[in-house]
Amino acid sequence: MQVPLLRLQCGVNSYDWGKLGSESAAAKYAATTAAADFSVDAEKPYAELWMGTHPSLPSKDLETQRSLLDLVQDNVALMSPEVTQRYGGKLPFLFKVLSIRKALSIQAHPNKKLAESLHARDPRNYPDDNHKPEMTIAITPFEGLCGFRPLTEIVHFLKAVAPLRHLVGNQAATDFETAVQGSADSDDLTQTQKNKDALRVLFTTLMNSSTQDIEAATKELLAAAQNSPETFASLVNTPETNPSNPTELASILIRLNGQFPSDIGLFVFFFLNFVELAPGEAMFLKADDIHAYISGDIIECMASSDNVVRAGFTPKFKDVDTLTDMLTYSYAPIEEQKLEPTDYPYVVLNATAYSSASSCLLYDPPIEEFSVVKSELCRPGAKATFDQLTGPSILICTGGSGKITVGHKTELVEEGYVFFVGANAECIIENTGREREDVFTTYKAFCDLTGKEDLVNGH
Ligand SMILES: [Zn+2]
Repeated sequence: MQVPLLRLQCGVNSYDWGKLGSESAAAKYAATTAAADFSVDAEKPYAELWMGTHPSLPSKDLETQRSLLDLVQDNVALMSPEVTQRYGGKLPFLFKVLSIRKALSIQAHPNKKLAESLHARDPRNYPDDNHKPEMTIAITPFEGLCGFRPLTEIVHFLKAVAPLRHLVGNQAATDFETAVQGSADSDDLTQTQKNKDALRVLFTTLMNSSTQDIEAATKELLAAAQNSPETFASLVNTPETNPSNPTELASILIRLNGQFPSDIGLFVFFFLNFVELAPGEAMFLKADDIHAYISGDIIECMASSDNVVRAGFTPKFKDVDTLTDMLTYSYAPIEEQKLEPTDYPYVVLNATAYSSASSCLLYDPPIEEFSVVKSELCRPGAKATFDQLTGPSILICTGGSGKITVGHKTELVEEGYVFFVGANAECIIENTGREREDVFTTYKAFCDLTGKEDLVNGH
């Protein structure tokens, strides 16, 4: 059998929100292995590099130009018989690099059951019957919206931001305040469910605002953001909100309105946690979690699916009813959405790696389809030897240079290079930089079926 190490050629797509030209990490990486007809156009947005077997943008073996999907289906050992059988011959995960210049749509991804019914009803807008839990790891500073804010923050904004109250209507705002009064922080399950119901009613009211009302409220909101941002936090007992500085909050609203004028997303902002991730920080989104990415370059890994239910910040198809219906309305501070990496135990570092404080960190969400290891080899000669995995992996280099060895095959690795590593193969990576400070950084997504199969989507 051939050595299970393939250098991949991966496509990049051009959604409007992508960073332009070589500003885009996705474009830069794609260019290192691109087909002959690809060149980076400075004016064009490049949004997502796709690494995997998803039919919308499948990766190829660089050498033979055969699709990765064909290769893993012809040679079951590449993914292992277990993974092949469990995921119908397709790679269980889709690995991506996203380069975000302007906000992505406000969205959620359906759970398995809902995905099946949406796909059956509307295959054009919902191309997959699969769920899509996803994990984001920042590679440059990242901003986004993620999950509902703690209710005390929403109550605060209903009072402090007059145009928000005008848009949902005083009655709906008062009903919500009354429903959650005194119980916003309660742990009691019955009370929490009541709070979620109240949030569902209020949020659905907001999302069904008329275009005319949104336009009027936006004018009012922008005037406040420009002239009196301090009013967003001027009340006594203002809770700690994200961002906590009202001037910063106002400037984000002004920026978002520049990207999507008079969009309902400007008001959804007051319902969702505003998240900033430093490079290396991560968050995990369960199915049915509401989110919107605003800026930054990220590594993203998800179950292999392209199902998105959108409701704002987008020129694409919106499905407000499905979105407001599917959300769980769980609310929590942002810290609970972040995912802390841990030391990856199934790797051996050599002495140079140890003495240079090199690291292999594991990002392990509570689902079976994927985990990601980030390796930083901090000095030339630093080397990491990974144990065999029972399933397939895909590795991308985001900085520095090095080499990768599987069996008797060794390949050079530069920024943007992507490799597929087959199941049951030991894999060695090594920093081959010239300067003492040269860091070799890689991310490796993998599926290793080891008892997580019983977990369904983190629930
Ligand atoms: Zn998403």
